[in-house]
Amino acid sequence: MRRIVVSNISVDVVRKNIKNLHLAVYPPNGRVRVAVPLRMNDDAVRLAIISRLAWIKRHQVKFAGQERQSAREFVSGESHYFQGKRYRLNVVYHNAAPRVAIRNKSTIDLFVREGSDRFQRQRVLAEWYRRQLKEQIPSLIEKWNSLINVSVAEWGVKQMKTRWGTCNSKARRIWLNLELAKKPVHCLEYIIVHEMLHVLERKHNDRFKTLLDKFLPRWRLYKEELNRMPLGHDDWVY
Ligand SMILES: [Zn+2]
Repeated sequence: MRRIVVSNISVDVVRKNIKNLHLAVYPPNGRVRVAVPLRMNDDAVRLAIISRLAWIKRHQVKFAGQERQSAREFVSGESHYFQGKRYRLNVVYHNAAPRVAIRNKSTIDLFVREGSDRFQRQRVLAEWYRRQLKEQIPSLIEKWNSLINVSVAEWGVKQMKTRWGTCNSKARRIWLNLELAKKPVHCLEYIIVHEMLHVLERKHNDRFKTLLDKFLPRWRLYKEELNRMPLGHDDWVY
């Protein structure tokens, strides 16, 4: 991969055995990547990027300036993700405590009181995600504790803007991003393993990567998958 700069925008260029140039802007930071045919020269690549500058900037502005969660209205018909799968949100008014249920492997029913506003609906769903994630985590930590012999003293889930997880290696304390509830289980597992390995090695150095390679050989794929997918919402189809 090469990086070139066009009109102050840095672009990752990947040459591949493909017919047409493919340009994409990725959340959350608006990284620009272009896959180009093997024989296309740099000038042609630059020209192609220049011709799409407005499109690139539009997407970068969207990713940068937006409070990604607030882009959702939490109304029926929206797409929401759970454990890597896309579900249709269905808001149901009822006269009891709020709850969430999955139906037909395709729908998330969100039961709320009539008149509840967007933020209340969002909170109910977020708390549901939190409970689901907290159910998933212990067995994964347990599994990896026995595989890599790192015990986690404390873990928690919180909303984070820029990181999937953090690790305080001294305290052996791990925080996981609530958004992981929306991601495939193997992505959650990758972050858990990643943070647990920080107990052994704090930095992202060669030793750390060697450990990841040893225990989770496909970690690069999972990382790529996480960074490809939107952090908060999904209206980023190109
Ligand atoms: Zn790390």
